[in-house]
Amino acid sequence: MRRKLVAGNWKMHGSLAENESLLTAILAGMGGVQASVAVCAPFPYLAQMQSKLAGSAVAWGAQNLSHHAKGAYTGEVSATMLNDFACKYVIVGHSERRSLYGESDELVAEKYAAAQAAGLTPIFCVGETLSEREGCVTEQVVSRQLDAVLNKCGVASLTKAVVAYEPVWAIGTGVTATPDQAQAVHAFIRGKIAALDADVAAGLIIQYGGSMKPANAAVLLGQPDIDGGLIGGAALNAEEFLAICRAA
Ligand code: PEP
Repeated sequence: MRRKLVAGNWKMHGSLAENESLLTAILAGMGGVQASVAVCAPFPYLAQMQSKLAGSAVAWGAQNLSHHAKGAYTGEVSATMLNDFACKYVIVGHSERRSLYGESDELVAEKYAAAQAAGLTPIFCVGETLSEREGCVTEQVVSRQLDAVLNKCGVASLTKAVVAYEPVWAIGTGVTATPDQAQAVHAFIRGKIAALDADVAAGLIIQYGGSMKPANAAVLLGQPDIDGGLIGGAALNAEEFLAICRAA
């Protein structure tokens, strides 16, 4: 039985004061939450995550990293730097990184490899755009995104990773994939991995992300291949985030 994982993606939101009250409220409400829980904060707040969350039931991580280990890469942050703040997770290949910052499948795979080389668990995002879904190429797109990582790191690497299926058209839009739509892609992902290694597929956590809210969380999380959520907007509100955590 896979333990569900609910991870908040705070994106470029927060301040020291806002984070303090959000984390205080989340920690206070963790009683009765059976899922694993994490928050992925902007880089400047990772020290705050460490001091506030160390020893608690809430893990933390970053939203991006460099594929380089060190060097003349102004503005970049390496995996070992994330380790200095005891990050457990790092999101790689979020659709906003892909679409706004031109991250290719190959670069995402490099970041995934860099994260794992440093002992971080990548939350590896895949998902199709609206036009790709309308063009009936969802499976081809997700397959291509997965193949970049599989070709570079191999199927066994997924024992130390989380996959997040995030249909781009559902992220931050208030439009959620129906449980059937989401389950179908999750089953496709698991089936693709199972064809390579059944044990890896059986243990793989595949989160759904895309306007998950308390009102739709239970039915999404009740699907057989949906093992948690990557939560954007609702992760900025303690009550909403905790309601999703409890639903998991
Ligand atoms: C996300 O940022 O990964 C996300 C799923 O956002 P939202 O929940 O706001 O759609």
